[in-house]
Amino acid sequence: MCGIVGYIGTKKAYPILIKGLQRLEYRGYDSAGVAMISDSGDLNVYKAKGKVDNLTEFCSDKDISGSVGIAHTRWATHGEPSARNAHPHYSSTHNLAIIHNGIIENYATIKAKLQTKGVEFKSDTDTEVLVQLVEYVMVKKNLTLLEAVQVALHQVIGAYAIAIVDKRDPRQIIAARKQSPLVVGIGEDEFFLGSDASPIIDYTDKVVYLEDGNIAVIRLGEELRVMSILGEEQELNVKTVDIDLGQIEKGGYNHFMLKEIFEQPECLKNCMRGRINVEGNHVTLSAMIDYRQQLLSAKRIVIVACGTSWHAGLIGKQLFESLCRIPCEVEYASEFRYRNPVVTKDDVVIAISQSGETADTLAAIQLAKEQGAFIYGICNAIGSSIPRATDTGTYIHVGPEIGVASTKAFTGQVTVLSMLALCLASERGTISEEQYKEMVKELTLIPEKQEQALKTNEQIERLAPIFTYAKNCLYLGRGYNYPLALEGALKLKEISYIHAEGYPAAEMKHGPIALIDSEMPVFVIATRDRLYEKVISNIQEVRARGGRVTALVTEGDTQIQKFADHIITLPDTLECFQPLIASIPLQLLAYHIAVCKGKDVDRPRNLAKSVTVE
Ligand code: GLU
Repeated sequence: MCGIVGYIGTKKAYPILIKGLQRLEYRGYDSAGVAMISDSGDLNVYKAKGKVDNLTEFCSDKDISGSVGIAHTRWATHGEPSARNAHPHYSSTHNLAIIHNGIIENYATIKAKLQTKGVEFKSDTDTEVLVQLVEYVMVKKNLTLLEAVQVALHQVIGAYAIAIVDKRDPRQIIAARKQSPLVVGIGEDEFFLGSDASPIIDYTDKVVYLEDGNIAVIRLGEELRVMSILGEEQELNVKTVDIDLGQIEKGGYNHFMLKEIFEQPECLKNCMRGRINVEGNHVTLSAMIDYRQQLLSAKRIVIVACGTSWHAGLIGKQLFESLCRIPCEVEYASEFRYRNPVVTKDDVVIAISQSGETADTLAAIQLAKEQGAFIYGICNAIGSSIPRATDTGTYIHVGPEIGVASTKAFTGQVTVLSMLALCLASERGTISEEQYKEMVKELTLIPEKQEQALKTNEQIERLAPIFTYAKNCLYLGRGYNYPLALEGALKLKEISYIHAEGYPAAEMKHGPIALIDSEMPVFVIATRDRLYEKVISNIQEVRARGGRVTALVTEGDTQIQKFADHIITLPDTLECFQPLIASIPLQLLAYHIAVCKGKDVDRPRNLAKSVTVE
């Protein structure tokens, strides 16, 4: 899940590579590095542990000339984060340099073989094995770089997006992908490479998304060539990208995360635009028109996802079961793919992933496809691997999400799940026409209510310092608010490093209640719904053990303030849409607590935005 950037053309490569790395830094920031063929023909590799700024500082007195180069931000899988293990990696002769995103699963076997032939390794990474193997076969069999890459890729098992340069041939970059994303940008007399289009869009809007198992031969002065590993030429599928630069910059906010929290009303409007009619009483999803039969005949829905998307899936389950009366299961994609699950052709499998590149979710899709299920994707990144691997789907259209802790993608996913459930419920006749219209209308009011919920920002900023001392926090909710408790706890863990647990409020007495004392902040989502009275009892149970309660309540609530230490008031909505509103103060809480603790909110340690390794 690293970031890959490449440039070959007539401009200076270094500034383009660095800017590209900064755009992609959300994908990994264990280290950063660049390899460039200088004006005098040297292959210079510079790398630094940590963020891209460390790399630029390191390069400040180095030769950064040259118009061809590759660059990388790393999210370590093999070998500790260090300058030594940072990419690019040289081959033994220093003629070649490689960058890689993914995992070479059989690296140890290949490494051992190469070592017996006398090859010396400089790093602990799986990646170095690939560049050494390419060089080894190149010399041994007298092959061109392209041929050697083809031979080497035949031998490796695993996932990769790679780019290789050879100092003896400064007019060429060879790139390839399998299960990790890679995009080639085509300019005038120049080419770009990126893990996604964001490092490319300043220079050209013409891109080719490489398909799995393809190699790109990028040669200055020639047409881009794409071929399979076996060398079969592939047709060039040039696409035009349309990303607004403003969308990937911070726009006055201190962090991307805060910007993205505040963007949510606008994002949800975009998500519903063209799908809910102007009268606000009817939802149309193109997937529902094109694949009506397949979707309506679902005997079961299985949702596969990871992390925050899995939490959105848990809300989806409640929607599909209560509104559509379709049994629904929610699975961690990483478990599902390895546990021989029962999947049939009567199942609709919904895969949820912000990036559309989550490796485990992709593998789960593959497995479900093989069993004949119909696959529906819910993703954000247009043209990413999951939308290409599914039968149909719906984009959440919330714009690029850069903050590592997902916020607007979560509410976008829940919105799409709500729209899909409403379509299915209305077609299946499991809700009345009146109920359907009332619910669609209410969904269109959510952005406005989110605006109101965002007004809690200042109150939450003032509250945040109270919680920075905490070592553990508990989040409680019931019904639709239970997945939200999980999501609130995850947000806090991710960016503030405070241990937090989400729990169904009533389950608390089966264990976690033992942990409650006056040191333990307890956040309760206690909005007015069917379970309101029950949640009040749960709050009492916490209070009776000396716990400190902060409650999210519905406006007009007069009861809970009697027992809670702090209350945060939210606008009322239908129970099933409450997570779309109550997620906002939970995101803000995590954000402000992390800021108070001086944490790097947009780049939390050990995490990466797009998990393209399993
Ligand atoms: N497996 C490689 C490493 O650990 C690449 C990881 C990445 O995708 O950043 O260096």
